[in-house]
Parts: sequence; C-alpha cells; structure tokens
Amino acid sequence: MTETLERLLADIRACRICVERPDGRPLPHEPRPVVVGSRTARVLIAGQAPGLRVHESGLPFNDRSGDRLRDWMGVTREEFYDASRFAIVPMGFCFPGYDDKGGDMPPRRECAARWHGRLMAAMPQIELVLAIGQYAHRWHLGARRRKSLTETVMDWREIFFSSYRPKILPLPHPSWRNTGWLKRNAWFETDLLPLLKGEIRSRLQPK
Ligand code: SF4
Repeated sequence: MTETLERLLADIRACRICVERPDGRPLPHEPRPVVVGSRTARVLIAGQAPGLRVHESGLPFNDRSGDRLRDWMGVTREEFYDASRFAIVPMGFCFPGYDDKGGDMPPRRECAARWHGRLMAAMPQIELVLAIGQYAHRWHLGARRRKSLTETVMDWREIFFSSYRPKILPLPHPSWRNTGWLKRNAWFETDLLPLLKGEIRSRLQPK
C-alpha cells in the first residue's frame, strides 16, 4: 500500500535519525528537514542539501544558487515556491554542517536511504526530475550516471530522451562555485537551458 503523502511529510518533519541513530557522526545541530511535497506538481527539483541560510529560513533555494536556478528554469520566485507546481526534494533534507575546511558536508546518507523511495512512490504524478549535482545524479540515475558530473550533464540528451519515467534532466549545482564550470561548458547555456525552460513552461500547470 502506498502511504499518504501527508503522513509521510509529517514523519519527515519529525525525523531525528541523524541525531539519535546516525550512520557515523551525529548531526551537530537540531534537525530541520526542508522538503516540499506535492500531489499536483509535475516537476520535482532534486538538489543536494540545505546550506546554513536555508536551514535558518526553512525556505529551499532561498539564496544566490536559487536565483540562478530560477533563471535557468525561467520561473519567478512566486512560481518556484508554489507547491502545486514544484516539489523540492534535496538528497539530504537537513543542513549537514561544515567539514574541517569550512565547506558544506555532503548530504546525510541516512536521508535517501530512509525517505526518498517512499517520497517518489507517494508522488506518482511527477513527470520530470531536475537532478542537480552529483548526489542527485547518483540516486536518480543509478547505473545510467556517467563517470563524472560533466560527462553526465554532457549526455543530457541521451538521458532526457530515453524511455525512462519520470524523465530526468541532469544539471550541475547552480552554486557560484560553478561559475567557472559554466564558462568552460558554454553548450550548457546555449543547448540545454532553452530545452529546460520549454519543458518547465509546458509543465507549469498543476495536474
Ligand atoms: S537529514 Fe534526513 S534522515 Fe537525517 S535527520 Fe534530517 S530528515 Fe532525518
């Protein structure tokens, strides 16, 4: 039996696995899962994990990365945060903390193992997944992921036009840290982004 989306989201909001039963070091702060589920969205945005700013606000992609992502998608903030249009499911729902060099830790492994399969099953209407960054590529593409992030994104046509459902569009992370990558891979802007904008526009109406 598929559990209801509402029940599942309530369980996620109450989740303390990474504090009480962590797979490795415990989360160094109180969990604050940031996830947007939807019964009507046709597009699911699969990012990495919240940063500190998102952890504090509880609003996903409420930062410069989010501004760039909205620009890539060709949507306004109002459209982006309309849960009837977009589900937002990062690979780790809670801010994972910082590593020894001050960078964000990877998404908590416990999260995808516990929640992602069930969340996808509870949102069968999703037609398109924007898989953002290597962790989302790994989970959503599995063996179809290429050797590197660049190779995976470069092969976007083969991945997107395959017969797999939901459709998947692999993207790099829209972080400012990837500005150099975007400059080196100009095809991303000229070839992939027009298709992305068109696919989003055609799926903007809720189901
Ligand atoms: S990261 Fe995921 S598994 Fe860990 S506490 Fe947050 S919601 Fe639970």
